Amino acid sequence: MRIIAHLDMDAFFAAVEERDTPRWRGLPLIVGADPQEGRGRGVVSTANYKAREYGIHSALPISKAWQFSQWAKQRGEPEAIFVEPDMEKYARVSEEIAKIAREFVPTIERASIDEMYLDLSFSGSYGKAAEFCQKIKKEITDKEKLTCSVGIGPNKLIAKIASDTQKPNGLTVVGADEEKTCTELAEVFLESLFIRQIPGIGPKTEIRLQELGIFLVRDLKKLSLEKLKEKFGKWGEDMYYKARGIDDSPVVEEYEAKSIGEQETFPQNTLDPNFIIGRLTAMCENVIGRMKRDGFKEFRTIALTVRFGGFETKTRAHTLKSPADSADALKKEALKLMMPFFDKRENPSNKLIRLIGVRVEKLE
Ligand SMILES: [Mg+2]
Repeated sequence: MRIIAHLDMDAFFAAVEERDTPRWRGLPLIVGADPQEGRGRGVVSTANYKAREYGIHSALPISKAWQFSQWAKQRGEPEAIFVEPDMEKYARVSEEIAKIAREFVPTIERASIDEMYLDLSFSGSYGKAAEFCQKIKKEITDKEKLTCSVGIGPNKLIAKIASDTQKPNGLTVVGADEEKTCTELAEVFLESLFIRQIPGIGPKTEIRLQELGIFLVRDLKKLSLEKLKEKFGKWGEDMYYKARGIDDSPVVEEYEAKSIGEQETFPQNTLDPNFIIGRLTAMCENVIGRMKRDGFKEFRTIALTVRFGGFETKTRAHTLKSPADSADALKKEALKLMMPFFDKRENPSNKLIRLIGVRVEKLE
């Protein structure tokens, strides 16, 4: 019997900042770009629960978040605290949380900086699995002063959806030791959900499905595999199985970060090569610095991301024949990828650039 848990930290970056600065506790807090009194660019990375009451959420433009906070102030509520992200700190905390999970569970998969899958099949029963998760939750609260939400189910898909149904500080079990009951429970659980709650169904798919009269997973199940394939191709096939709670993907332990990168939103959109190359060079140095601090010697792949003013985003990557280790090598490769964006090769209509990012992969 497979028993999988998904552990998701609650408002992770914001919770870490609140924890580390007692005077911010209980106030609305936003981790994201500098709002510059409403003129700032970039987006909200994480909003704590208090800030969410103001309508502020991840990916909201930071200027909007500022506006919402100002409106709250006019209503006599506290202004939001804006904090710029400290990714190195969050990565350290994430490491500590993974360590705690490993004390209880032999196989874990870190899906992102603030979530992981735990393979609890060894525990033998849903009751035992829930006990392990309670212990992990308690240890995270005691040692790290942070909360998380956990979902338990027969596979990663159900576990992930379940962890999201009771936040913050939830523990949701969708499953049973008897296989038939377990399958039935999972089906009932899924059927009453909105289609958006299925991982991978974003706003675009949601709208297309709603146009077909589909709002709940129950409605989605009425479409045949053929119909879904015809409308959505391969993705339609995936949706067909997801709506039925079918997912065989294993929990895969990963020992190290596979890539290290940085990105930066410019104060204003620009196509000034001096400025852009200056920023790119600085980012390359930071990336190599972080790579060395994280104990990696060399990289083989360089990826450059360019986002234009209209939010269109392009990523270009290059893999070297033999690994490189210096900031100079990275700068040289990043420049080669960047140059076509200054002329008609990658940028025929001379669009201004809003953001660039540089990343190294295949680390050794
Ligand atoms: Mg989270």
